[in-house]
Amino acid sequence: MASHKSELVNTEGSPESADIRGENQASNPKAPLALVLFGSPGSGKGTQSKLLSRTVGIPQISTGDMLREHVRKGNAVGTAVEAKLKAGTLVRDEVVNALVDERLAQTDAARGFILDGYPRTRAQAEMLCRMLAVRGIHEVVIHLVVDYNVIIARLTGRRQCPVCGTLYNVISKPPKVPGVCDLDGADLVVRDDDREEVIRERLEAYENQTRPLLDYFREKGKDLYEIDASHDAPEQVFRKIEALIRKQ
Ligand code: ADP
Repeated sequence: MASHKSELVNTEGSPESADIRGENQASNPKAPLALVLFGSPGSGKGTQSKLLSRTVGIPQISTGDMLREHVRKGNAVGTAVEAKLKAGTLVRDEVVNALVDERLAQTDAARGFILDGYPRTRAQAEMLCRMLAVRGIHEVVIHLVVDYNVIIARLTGRRQCPVCGTLYNVISKPPKVPGVCDLDGADLVVRDDDREEVIRERLEAYENQTRPLLDYFREKGKDLYEIDASHDAPEQVFRKIEALIRKQ
């Protein structure tokens, strides 16, 4: 176990960081690792995945980002999932499982990866188990625990610049002038799936279909860790995750 987990820590310039980046692959016998960031919409999975990806040097695989990219391209997958994303309901397991399977086959995922927003249903979790077993990859689940009221404040307060894409929050990260982008002066908008009725759908999908996976992970004896991510700044939450990984 320890052999898996120490691989996650990237201390600049240390022998471990060389292993993580693959500069020392030939002499690195450790199995690659799948880090599953688990939590409600608004728990900070995306932010933490990006920070971890940069530090650890393994890719972030976000099913939400992948699906939005297909919608943006207007291809067959995009057309099939667009309505679900708009409504805040889950995309069919077969579609998401196929996207992840394809993504895991890419060479940059061979040394491990961070899963953000996957798995979200029992069928996805079972599929992930199979995909990882075939590839000999070990799984560690990190549950970002956030109070319900904090989640609501984060999601309803989110604003985005339609021009440059910068994200703001009316409470935790307000623009200098209310409603206006600091960078280009454009009027900020509420993203389609951050509208109140859609937020309700996303949270319901999480409660009904995703949260129960915690029991599944426990039953299966997965490595599951909880991190309190309600009140700390993203950098502090990141330090907690890093410390947790270091201790393994
Ligand atoms: P959030 O976690 O804040 O809801 P995401 O970007 O992870 O945001 O997901 C946005 C939307 O993409 C979801 O509401 C859902 O429609 C779809 N989606 C993302 N990941 C999955 C998944 N693993 N299974 C089914 N649908 C998904």
